[in-house]
Amino acid sequence: MVVFVGAGPGAVDLITVRGQAFLKEADIVIYAGSLVNPELLKLCGPDCEIYNSAYMTLEEVIQVMEEGARKGKHVVRLHTGDPSLYGAIKEQTDILEEKGISYEICPGVSSFCGAAAALQAEYTLPGISQSVVITRMAGRTSVPEKESIQSLASHQATMVIFLSAGLLKELQQALIEGGYPEDTPAAIVYKATWEDEKVCRCKVCELYDTARKEQITKTALIIVGDILKGAYRRSELYNPSFSTAYRKAHVPYEKQTVKKERKEQESHG
Ligand code: SAH
Repeated sequence: MVVFVGAGPGAVDLITVRGQAFLKEADIVIYAGSLVNPELLKLCGPDCEIYNSAYMTLEEVIQVMEEGARKGKHVVRLHTGDPSLYGAIKEQTDILEEKGISYEICPGVSSFCGAAAALQAEYTLPGISQSVVITRMAGRTSVPEKESIQSLASHQATMVIFLSAGLLKELQQALIEGGYPEDTPAAIVYKATWEDEKVCRCKVCELYDTARKEQITKTALIIVGDILKGAYRRSELYNPSFSTAYRKAHVPYEKQTVKKERKEQESHG
């Protein structure tokens, strides 16, 4: 059996309890060495074989998985964050299926969640944005034309941009061309949840200069949108004037709709 495990964004205690159990039981671990925190490998037993996939091709990864699985070993493929985002797992699971090797997937905390926590932000604020666009700049991997940054930017929804810290000049230009005003709040979160995490807040038009000043070229997420500004409408879910399946409204609606600036925000969740 092969298990794809989401390692979480970096901090060792942000792997799931289930993922931790899989690591403890593993006979073989193949981890994405460029981003997975190697401290996590301390959870593995002393006899566990460990491979760093940064030095391996897809074929080599599959060979290790296949040999292990055929011998009845527990194989863990450890991916950063959650495996469903830019994890290149489909090309692995398709081959495993062809070979009749069973597998399962254990989710993880994606770095975009780690970045929200670092920013103490909520990506979906009533009256500001109710959508989160997760995307990337085209690099060696292309992005379909209909998903260009410009076209996604036209919605001015919250945007989280992966794999693009080295392309900020182009990204900033595309975001502005697409429709975000130059002074839209933005942030660069470097190594979210790691000990050397850095959070840099700026405006869209300052993304390139900010990264250059902070010498950030990789392992960062770019977050863009007015949710970083802070003005918003309070939720309907916790509004005393709204009935839900669990409680009845007891206050007239209008009185309860308020706007707050960032410094006055309260957390409610
Ligand atoms: N599956 C991963 C993403 C892998 S793609 C996830 O769910 O997070 C690799 C990209 O993710 C990096 O280039 C960077 O943009 C982002 N990334 C991964 N870990 C990060 C972290 N701790 N902080 C900021 N960005 C991170």
